Amino acid sequence: MASLAERLDAVREGVADAAREANRDVADVTTIVVTKFHPASMVRELHDLGVRDFGESRHQEAQPKIAELHELEASWHFIGQLQSKKARQVATYIDVIHSVDRDSLAVALAGNSLDVFIQVNLTDDPGRGGVDPDGIHHLAEQLLAAEGVELRGLMAVAPLGREPRQAFATVRELSERLRSVAPRADALSIGMSGDYREAILEGATHLRIGTAITGNRPAPG
Ligand SMILES: *Cc1c(COP(=O)(O)O)cnc(C)c1O
Repeated sequence: MASLAERLDAVREGVADAAREANRDVADVTTIVVTKFHPASMVRELHDLGVRDFGESRHQEAQPKIAELHELEASWHFIGQLQSKKARQVATYIDVIHSVDRDSLAVALAGNSLDVFIQVNLTDDPGRGGVDPDGIHHLAEQLLAAEGVELRGLMAVAPLGREPRQAFATVRELSERLRSVAPRADALSIGMSGDYREAILEGATHLRIGTAITGNRPAPG
């Protein structure tokens, strides 16, 4: 079985290969290692291997883990569904939220200094998280009006059963439209363990990679 260092190296190589294929500078692609369900000790190991961006998806897990690791120089990304009630707390310890999908979150986050992405739902299932593509424009306006909040771009998960390259091309088109109201919101948080090559080919600036680096996740605690 490959070690954590070997899996990280393999993904780094895969990211570099895809950037080359896309004629892009690999420095323009940030790999966030998703450490949800894994212990703080794994985050330290990854940090020793040079990782500086980490992703978490649940407030009750992220808050104590990040507090335990407060001495690490790192950026913390929140990628899970977020209730407005918890958003205020999450904003106090997180650097970037990738999963903003409701006006009530824009209100809750206002006044905090943080970067945000609008999560777009590419399925017909409202339970999947993310705003409907038709709602992006309105939500962007709310976020642009929220003090301290910097709208960076769009986040999406490629739906099961759909060619990821196609799904990411849709996000890229939505991003072009978003920039008519938010010219600086040009970042794309797309691409996970199984589809990061396709994401890079479609312009991903942020990858959220878990299992390809961490190995299988333990059951949620
Ligand atoms: C868990 C998670 C990931 C990482 O998924 P892997 O398939 O393990 O790479 C990425 N994005 C979101 C929103 C997630 O919840």
